[in-house]
Amino acid sequence: MKYIFITGGVISSLGKGLTAAALGTLLEHRGLKLVLQKFDPYLNVDPGTMNPYQHGEVYVLDDGAETDLDLGHYERFTHCRLTRKNNLTSGQIYENIIAQERRGDYLGKTVQVVPHVTDEIKKRIRSVASDQAADIIITEIGGTTGDIEGLPFLEAIRQFALEAGHENVFFMHVTLVPYIGVAGELKTKPTQQSVAKLREIGIMPNALICRCEKPLTREARQKMSLFCNVPADAVIEERDVEHSIYEVPLMLQKESLDELVCRHLRLHRPPPRMAAWRAFVRRVIQPKHRRKVAVVGKYLELKDAYKSIYESLTHAGAFHDCGIDIMNIDAEELEKGDPGALLRGADGILVPGGFGHRGVEGKIIAAGYARRKKVPYLGLCLGMQVAAVEFARSEGDLANANSAEFDEKTPHPVIALLDEQKNVQNKGASMRLGAWPCMLIKGTKAARAYRQTIISERHRHRFEFNNAYRTRLEQKGLVFSGVSPRSNLVEIIELKDHPWFVACQFHPEFQSKPNYPHPLFKGFVGALLGK
Ligand code: GLN
Repeated sequence: MKYIFITGGVISSLGKGLTAAALGTLLEHRGLKLVLQKFDPYLNVDPGTMNPYQHGEVYVLDDGAETDLDLGHYERFTHCRLTRKNNLTSGQIYENIIAQERRGDYLGKTVQVVPHVTDEIKKRIRSVASDQAADIIITEIGGTTGDIEGLPFLEAIRQFALEAGHENVFFMHVTLVPYIGVAGELKTKPTQQSVAKLREIGIMPNALICRCEKPLTREARQKMSLFCNVPADAVIEERDVEHSIYEVPLMLQKESLDELVCRHLRLHRPPPRMAAWRAFVRRVIQPKHRRKVAVVGKYLELKDAYKSIYESLTHAGAFHDCGIDIMNIDAEELEKGDPGALLRGADGILVPGGFGHRGVEGKIIAAGYARRKKVPYLGLCLGMQVAAVEFARSEGDLANANSAEFDEKTPHPVIALLDEQKNVQNKGASMRLGAWPCMLIKGTKAARAYRQTIISERHRHRFEFNNAYRTRLEQKGLVFSGVSPRSNLVEIIELKDHPWFVACQFHPEFQSKPNYPHPLFKGFVGALLGK
């Protein structure tokens, strides 16, 4: 087993996750089997209870783990299989340790950060390694070198490298090399200082991944090589991509990063063949067609809040050779003004998931607009719930129908809590989470899109379609095209006389990849093109 550890320096948001994933793409294309994991130094047990403004999207895995959005990059850029073990937080470590201490497992010892916290971290690396018959584990350490809360993780990987043998471990440090316009120069000092900080802990990076706006000059490379004690060919340029994040693997390949890693780890594999990836990137960058999709949400300032949705649109767009321009529509604006004025230019409307009352009426208006004007509609989770409420109000003669989440006293709770959710007290990890099977009804748009009868999709919600209203809405023309096989929960609704009005209770955006677009996104983008 070989180990790659990725740390970050200077500032956050350098795209460590993306770099980890992109290296994963290259190694996988060399025929290596890998697994990626992320360590997050914060004290939350998982990001499930964090606000999107704090954390961006919460990425859900098959096993129901609510994880960091970098795991989304890992799944999109590689075929590795992830479980809740692949995202370790300080919160989880302390939760475990304190439970063990209360049980008396430490037999009277003083419980300490070193060795107890560091041992937990090392144990997790070994346990992920032994679960998966992988050749390489790539571990990304969240946060920035120098953060107090990151120290135990860095100490743990230092010890781990000693135990695993340095020839089996590759340390990569992602750093910022800023360009200072007034001086007309690239500055290497922040990197030098960040590496000095790492060396103080006892970690010598084997490669520097330099995030920069301008190409690295030869001088800058030499300087960093000399002062950071890294061979010149291990100073890797990772410039800001112009068009698409999917260019990153190709960029790193040009810099021979995969070559360098394989040489150090003594993995003898032929160079990766990236033709299919390159063709995908070409369709993303220079598509034949362009269409506009209105995303009606409420965390719009924040690019990361709907990350997987935007990526899924890109994948489906590339399949149809179509660039997707996102129109961010603030749901609350729709409540105030003329929806036509805001939505007129959109070729399709997408209503994503969400929690809380703010903006819900605007999302209901958007679903109604799409239904009446026959604009292609894709509703995801809350996007399905608002479509059901809208249909119930307008076509089902159920005035004031609502979701019980937003109006507890509604006379018509078309969306309601299941009995098993009614007594849930804790907010953490208590929703319907993870992969559930769904049965598709023959002849529907959904069944045609998937070309399958049983599918598996990931969930993250508390509320469900209320079966008490099923017959009534069915009689009025709402099609229930997907249901869960055992408990009969509604999973997909759609409309017949409409080019594409499909909404699902689950989150298809968590299962789309480049060159493997998700069927519902593929169908939606196809509809934008009149297919
Ligand atoms: N708030 C809704 C629920 O809990 C929808 C959740 C979502 O869109 N992820 O059921």
